[in-house]
Amino acid sequence: MPPEGKGSADERPRSIRPCPVCGKPATREAWPFCSERCRDVDLHRWLSGSYVIPGRDDDEETPG
Ligand SMILES: [Zn+2]
Repeated sequence: MPPEGKGSADERPRSIRPCPVCGKPATREAWPFCSERCRDVDLHRWLSGSYVIPGRDDDEETPG
């Protein structure tokens, strides 16, 4: 096995991510959101089930 070169991955500085809710630049206080308000909005989305959570499909095999 050839030795894998270390540090070959491009190192890119951590760029400021935009708030996933409104798109504004995120702040440290409410990372990764721009404000606590947006964080709540995202949280509510979770609670309401807007996000698709990967789950297991229980297949019920019916004897035919
Ligand atoms: Zn926001």
